[in-house]
Amino acid sequence: MKIYDLHSHSLHSDGKLTPAELVLRASAMGVDVLALTDHDITDGIKAAQAAAQDTPLTLVPGVEISATWENRTVHIVGLNIDISNTALQTGLSSIREHRAARAIEIGEQLEKRGIADAHEGASRLARGAILSRTHFAEFMVREGHAKDFNRAFRDWLGDRGKAFVKTRWAPLQDAINWINAAGGQAVIAHPGRYRLGKSLLKKLFGDFTDMGGAAIEVVSGSQKPEDALYFARESVRHGLLASAGSDFHDPQYRWRELGRNLRLPEACNPVWKDW
Ligand code: AMP
Ligand code: MN
Ligand code: MN
Ligand code: MN
Repeated sequence: MKIYDLHSHSLHSDGKLTPAELVLRASAMGVDVLALTDHDITDGIKAAQAAAQDTPLTLVPGVEISATWENRTVHIVGLNIDISNTALQTGLSSIREHRAARAIEIGEQLEKRGIADAHEGASRLARGAILSRTHFAEFMVREGHAKDFNRAFRDWLGDRGKAFVKTRWAPLQDAINWINAAGGQAVIAHPGRYRLGKSLLKKLFGDFTDMGGAAIEVVSGSQKPEDALYFARESVRHGLLASAGSDFHDPQYRWRELGRNLRLPEACNPVWKDW
């Protein structure tokens, strides 16, 4: 059986590897089909496709869009998108503006609480890529402001942290529309990570279906096996397809390796069934 890994990041967003390094690592890990899904940007796709030509791996052009639903942030992966689509690219560039403005505010919040030059430090680590909280977390750990990555999020950057800045991302309907306009399939990324109760999750799946979404990421990196069974049943109940992805960012995070433990439970309809 082929291994599909339909969620991964490069250094064009908050990943550590270049698109080419990512493709080679995925291929070495036995991945047959890989989607590069950087946050709110598709700049790495061409290089990933070029690298994939020298391997047996098939590269799926993708993106992970930051969206807002019911006043909460959700991530929507777009698979098999046409990256030349204007509606998609205009939408993504508007989100990147919000992202840049938020990064300045995060820097100001940290500054007020005695942590200077965080915006500058995070920018240096991002090396020209769009700024993510991941870059701020790395800066804080390096400078000794947080003991580790998890604590940087828990104490400072996460939604209960001291320097959390609320952002209005794309409305969920817009994110789905941009992906559909670009000929892609919209997927709810890592549904287990939003800390939604079962009834809110059901509402999210229902709204997402009504808005033209295609699939749920039933299997996601570092998720419990029973969660996959639950999301598999929900995908079938809503008539949605099922996707699988590691959400790989960094070779140092061993628990989220490319291509590992991504097999879908029996009952679901794979998002790739008509590819
Ligand atoms: P942003 O899109 O800039 O808000 O940053 C979100 C990114 O931060 C996610 O894509 C993850 O890669 C990372 N992240 C979010 N929460 C945590 C956490 N608690 N621990 C480690 N990384 C996290
Ligand atoms: Mn990320
Ligand atoms: Mn995500
Ligand atoms: Mn991701």
